[in-house]
Amino acid sequence: MSAAARIAEPLGDGLFLIDTDYVRPGLAASHLLVDNDRAAFIDTGTGLAAPKLLGALDELGIAREQVDYLFLTHVHLDHAGGAGQMMQALPNAQAVLHPRGAPHLVDPTRLIAGSIAVYGEDIYRRLYGEIVPIPAHRVLLAEDGMRLRLGTRSFEFIDAPGHARHHHCPIDLDYRDVYSGDNFGICYREFDTAAGPFMLPTTTPVQFDPDALHRTIDRLLSYRPRRIVQTHFGPVTDLDRLARDLHDNIDALVTIARRHVDAPDRVLQMRVDMFDYFNARLDAHGYAGTAARRHEFLDEDVNLNTQGLEVWLNRH
Ligand SMILES: [Zn+2]
Repeated sequence: MSAAARIAEPLGDGLFLIDTDYVRPGLAASHLLVDNDRAAFIDTGTGLAAPKLLGALDELGIAREQVDYLFLTHVHLDHAGGAGQMMQALPNAQAVLHPRGAPHLVDPTRLIAGSIAVYGEDIYRRLYGEIVPIPAHRVLLAEDGMRLRLGTRSFEFIDAPGHARHHHCPIDLDYRDVYSGDNFGICYREFDTAAGPFMLPTTTPVQFDPDALHRTIDRLLSYRPRRIVQTHFGPVTDLDRLARDLHDNIDALVTIARRHVDAPDRVLQMRVDMFDYFNARLDAHGYAGTAARRHEFLDEDVNLNTQGLEVWLNRH
């Protein structure tokens, strides 16, 4: 197989990135970690990605029996929608979940209904495929501070609210890689410039909590990570700068929400201000892409972020 046709992109030290092809290339990733003949996936993407993830194992010569864990950062479907299908294919795997998230994958009825309510039945099927329940006896609940071994390395799981209350983050204590899920923003590689990756914050529905998110970001950094590995999209370094940008961005989005709290058309106003804000940040970052390209990569996140801020405003 030629290098260009590889499914699993090597990131060093036993870590591989697999694009789950959610919506477009470069949007969502699953990571596969291999240590001393044992393997774990960190996030699985949607049900539609399962054949590709299994193809990555075949490509690397890893038997399905060698996969000990699925580390699922949270139960949003672009992260864990395919976990049930993967569990069916991986006889020895346990699904490691936040205690608040686990019930939704053991019985996904509410998760499915909620997603259909947001997207409609047709788009839901096209984006997410089939959601298969995970048998309760194959779930391992990770309380804050729980440790696990994979091969020779140790992981610590920390409760990580801010993006969602059912979010936790696995931390590779030996290699100091932090798997942030959605808690360390988004860095689409489209926006990389000489200044490095561009930080986009996520304030998506329905449990965005800015104070908790600021604290979670600081806690992730307290492990002095070498890399933070994002689901959207891949590993980043230059962490002090990215964290500063992320804290600033979260505050800026909260300010935008507060500014329009009493406006009758506040969803529209927030959307306009947010797009302008990201556009100005991209200019300052040295990004030279066209307006069309910016819209292509920003519009969906601006929409989701606006919805999340709307829910947050209504809760206050
Ligand atoms: Zn999420």
